[in-house]
Amino acid sequence: MPKYKLEYLWLDGYTPVPNLRGKTQIKEFESFPTLEQLPLWGFDGSSTKQAEGRSSDCVLKPVSVFPDITRTNGALVMCEVMMPDGVTPHPSNARATILDDPGAWFGFEQEYFFYKNGRPLGFPEAGFPAPQGPYYTGVGYKNVGDIARQIVEEHLDICLAAGINHEGINAEVAKGQWEFQIFGKGSRKAADEMWVARYILLRLAEKYGIDIEFHCKPLGATDWNGSGMHANFSTTYLREVGGKAYFEQLMSAFEKAKDDHIAVYGPDNHMRLTGLHETASIHTFSWGVADRGASIRVPHSFIKNEYKGYLEDRRPNSQGDPYQIASQILKTISTVPTH
Ligand code: ADP
Ligand code: MN
Ligand code: MN
Ligand code: MN
Ligand code: MN
Repeated sequence: MPKYKLEYLWLDGYTPVPNLRGKTQIKEFESFPTLEQLPLWGFDGSSTKQAEGRSSDCVLKPVSVFPDITRTNGALVMCEVMMPDGVTPHPSNARATILDDPGAWFGFEQEYFFYKNGRPLGFPEAGFPAPQGPYYTGVGYKNVGDIARQIVEEHLDICLAAGINHEGINAEVAKGQWEFQIFGKGSRKAADEMWVARYILLRLAEKYGIDIEFHCKPLGATDWNGSGMHANFSTTYLREVGGKAYFEQLMSAFEKAKDDHIAVYGPDNHMRLTGLHETASIHTFSWGVADRGASIRVPHSFIKNEYKGYLEDRRPNSQGDPYQIASQILKTISTVPTH
């Protein structure tokens, strides 16, 4: 029987944003293992801010499994962290707080920077490159350099081979900044795949001596764009029933829950949500049709289609935890009656 390399992945207990952790176990299977075949495993929670040293065992419960073409017989196993009983979710386990709704769809747009020697990839050793303008969706050595696109393409291929539902990639507004989009049906699917895609990107960049900078405003208060992770979302009701009255109630619910949303939309978001650079102010809630300066952008198609379709919450930032983001969005939606 072939021996499989199972990379168990989980999120640690660091706040405000968790880090990815992973370790390998080797197991024999007749063929690529299904989720049901994958055993629980454990780790030392005292090294990940998830337990005290005296009783430090935490349990890893596999929740989705992906082929890993970078290793012979490789698998990436996304896990939830459980208490030692194996059934109670650990307090750091945000995935377990997501309402189970197969009709909920999410599309996340992950922006990030490549960093080398503490600077965005392609920046000169001192000073700055030519100002923003040609980099967004740009081509040519002076715009994208020699290595960024190679990493982006490799990342895409590894993710597609894993079955991750990428919907697209693009060079972003700042030099060294890129984006990929992942869409998934079901309240947890896109978030699971986002964390695994982040893992693949971080690991891939290791061999190039490059870091992935997920901070939302790595260049501070300059004229360089920050990074977001727009969360596009819909539910069965929003897609099939919708209507102006429901939409207005939904937007009031979002306005009322504004602080709960901002609390999980990623650290340092006040640096990014300034009202400039296609963002809304962190202090207000707004929605607008096709408005990239609103908290929530309503696509033209939504209005034309009698207030049915999906909405884009533009506030989540690049460092946000998609589990916490999906959890809060569905929580707020659940407060609005649907009939
Ligand atoms: P933009 O950069 O203009 O905001 P993108 O094309 O980068 O747009 O991202 C739009 C996202 O919206 C995609 O990730 C897509 O999967 C997602 N999306 C499209 N339709 C739906 C839907 N019905 N429910 C949830 N997300 C959706
Ligand atoms: Mn050991
Ligand atoms: Mn986009
Ligand atoms: Mn973008
Ligand atoms: Mn967007």
